[in-house]
Amino acid sequence: MISDLEGADEGSVIESDVCIVGAGAAGISIALKLAALGKTVTLCEAGGFEYSEISQEVYQGEVRGDPYFDLEIARLRYLGGTTNHWAGDCRTFDSIDFDRSFISEELKWPISKTDLDPFLDEACGILDIDPVFYDSDYVAGIKSVNYKVSPPTRFGEKYRAALQASDTIGLMLNANIVDVVVNDRNISAAIFKSYNGKELTVRADKFVLATGGIENSRILLWLHQNQGDALYDGALPVGNYWMEHLEYILGEALVDSDIVERNAFVLADETQREEKILNCVLRTIGVPKSTTKQLVTDLLCVAPSIGEKMAGLVGKNLACGAIFEVSCEQLPVRSNRITLSRTEKDKFGKPRPVLYWKKSPLEKRTVAAAARAFNKWLIDQDHGRLRLDGWVLDDRPFPEPEDLGEYHHMGGTRMGESTETSVVDLNCRVHDTDNLYIAGSSVFATGGYSNPTLPIVQLSLRLANHIAQS
Ligand SMILES: Cc1cc2nc3c(=O)[nH]c(=O)nc-3n(C[C@H](O)[C@H](O)[C@H](O)COP(=O)(O)OP(=O)(O)OC[C@H]3O[C@@H](n4cnc5c(N)ncnc54)[C@H](O)[C@@H]3O)c2cc1C
Repeated sequence: MISDLEGADEGSVIESDVCIVGAGAAGISIALKLAALGKTVTLCEAGGFEYSEISQEVYQGEVRGDPYFDLEIARLRYLGGTTNHWAGDCRTFDSIDFDRSFISEELKWPISKTDLDPFLDEACGILDIDPVFYDSDYVAGIKSVNYKVSPPTRFGEKYRAALQASDTIGLMLNANIVDVVVNDRNISAAIFKSYNGKELTVRADKFVLATGGIENSRILLWLHQNQGDALYDGALPVGNYWMEHLEYILGEALVDSDIVERNAFVLADETQREEKILNCVLRTIGVPKSTTKQLVTDLLCVAPSIGEKMAGLVGKNLACGAIFEVSCEQLPVRSNRITLSRTEKDKFGKPRPVLYWKKSPLEKRTVAAAARAFNKWLIDQDHGRLRLDGWVLDDRPFPEPEDLGEYHHMGGTRMGESTETSVVDLNCRVHDTDNLYIAGSSVFATGGYSNPTLPIVQLSLRLANHIAQS
């Protein structure tokens, strides 16, 4: 059933097994799964069915450090959340993404890929993609990896009818969380407000915050300002270890058509371990024939024999030019973080978020090592060669980017065992609390190179299973 808090009775009270805050990819996936497992759910969404200025404005915030997108446009605040404008690229995590202790002990998840694998097929069904990822075998330390492209699934549109028809899910629109009732780390109720001042109390056994990769931290920090350590230990690193994916064009490639077709390549785990680098994906994106011809002419000048060979292959449509780019994970560092503004508040009196983030030298070293290894591989395997931009291999930092990131908001409430470096445990429960869970990419302990939404949905299904069984 779907209701709107703006039209509800003043001071309404609802009781259910679980209260979920936020109806985006994570919140809707959990609600539907919990309902299928026999639980009653109240799903509270800050926006309505459509975009509205009054809701979106609450997403304004400040950015410090490296340039980043305006926080108000980097996410959407209505039913379906940011999936209302996501692009749909999907990939699940690699095994190595769960354990980078070869760089630092902090870079280890308390779970592994095998904990998420059982939820892959169902998550792919939710996102309307084929669950079989056709990766190649490694050849001399490099393999191509397969991405899937969701239509892209708009969660608000696709699942609205199911939410409306459900007897066990009550979706409340225009319901903004403003506080909780808590006693000794146990939440008994959450309080919501609409834009026209109506108040709703939701009593539940368990509460899930699923408000996105910036807002989860912001809301937790703010609730702690209101409730103090009765809610959670204020020493937890809430908001810290925030991450994005770094996307850069590294140069151009002149390669076999097959390399352009396979498109996305990664380095073997052993290479990452030996070089002590992060994970990244290297892409070869085909360019028009005219650009390819220019690349051949340039190559003929610097390496005539290879140039002649490539010219012959291009003539037979067996080789082509490509833009060569990378998408790299970020090192989760404590100083990259979401904090609360001391001066700016939204219409509910909640401090606006301040995002501080900077790229680190390890990311630059990762990109350089990966580009170098891929170039060597192309030459050794006789697949072609790269022309890298000058900054890639020298000591210069990343250039001013044309792309500021990939709109992938990760970390802030990361998963782990230590309360010094993580906020939630392996079941996404905030450390030392009874019944407060976090869903979404804010729990990622490391970011990998995969786009976040498929792992978000896998983690959400796993969380729903855990809640239903506990
Ligand atoms: C332009 C763009 C392109 C993208 N492309 C891709 C891609 O190709 N592949 C990919 O994997 N990912 C992509 N993403 C990221 C993807 O959209 C997110 O990973 C995904 O939407 C996150 O899901 P979520 O449920 O955690 O958060 P969201 O989808 O943001 O949902 C959060 C929900 O919480 C609600 N909410 C917020 N605050 C409150 C509150 N106080 N009270 C109640 N409710 C609240 C919001 O209204 C929203 O509905 C893209 C993002 C953008 C912006």
